[in-house]
Amino acid sequence: MLTEFSNGVELSKICNESNKKIWEIMIEREVENSQLDREAILNYMKENLNIMKNSIKKGLYEDVKSVSGLVGGDAKLIRERYENEKTVSGKRMNKAVASAVAVLEVNASMGQIVAAPTAGSSGILPAALVTVGEDFHISDDQLSKALFTASAIGYIITKNATVAGAEGGCQAETGAAAAMAASALVELLGGSPEQALDAAAMTIKNILGLVCDPLAGLVEVPCVKRNAIGVANAFICSDMALAGVKSVIPFDEVVEAMYKVGKSLPCELRETALGGLAATPTGIRIKKQIFSKK
Ligand code: SF4
Repeated sequence: MLTEFSNGVELSKICNESNKKIWEIMIEREVENSQLDREAILNYMKENLNIMKNSIKKGLYEDVKSVSGLVGGDAKLIRERYENEKTVSGKRMNKAVASAVAVLEVNASMGQIVAAPTAGSSGILPAALVTVGEDFHISDDQLSKALFTASAIGYIITKNATVAGAEGGCQAETGAAAAMAASALVELLGGSPEQALDAAAMTIKNILGLVCDPLAGLVEVPCVKRNAIGVANAFICSDMALAGVKSVIPFDEVVEAMYKVGKSLPCELRETALGGLAATPTGIRIKKQIFSKK
């Protein structure tokens, strides 16, 4: 039997009938759809995890600056504060936020990251898993499996909507990444496939309508900080789902709504840098400065 699914309802049904988690079903699907065996696929995901960890480390401890000079160094600032002071949202949240910022800063400085699902949203999933992995002493093997949970959610969103800011706004891009992270955290911490889908649904609901408006068209401002908010969103929604809170609107319907909202956004708010923050006086001034340097 082929392990194929197109949406959350089908995935949930397969999980229930086989009494398996989402990550197990996703690995089976990958084995069926590739020329690779299970071990090779797991090793491939472990390599991704390593790249994620390295990008976090680089952003947290090295001097990273984007080519435009707009972003860089904030991950270090956040780390130094949570290491030395009490923080409003707690050490774990700050560690995750710093890690998400770190990856985006590395991306903006042309460093190596894993696009999960895109470069612009590449900080959220690593930050969520690596932070929780470290704090809960979870093995790389388990973290890699959680990445398959995230992959299944990303696959469904891609199949039924989009993960591109240019098509669906930032709600699609960082929203998808946050939904992937939230579902992965749920399964990593012992939650059910239904809870993982609820977490993913709640995560996207929280930022429905978020526009894509990068200054000068660069994946820097506001992208870095939207990754910080993305991991916070994932943390909160995974905790709510694990506590038994359900999404009133099912995951598949949330994804459909997100896609429709994205399609109804004017082109100025879909990565063209013509609207939103990009069109503010400061956004326009920064764009002129960057392009006059070239
Ligand atoms: S603002 Fe646009 S480019 Fe930046 S992270 Fe969001 S979707 Fe990506």
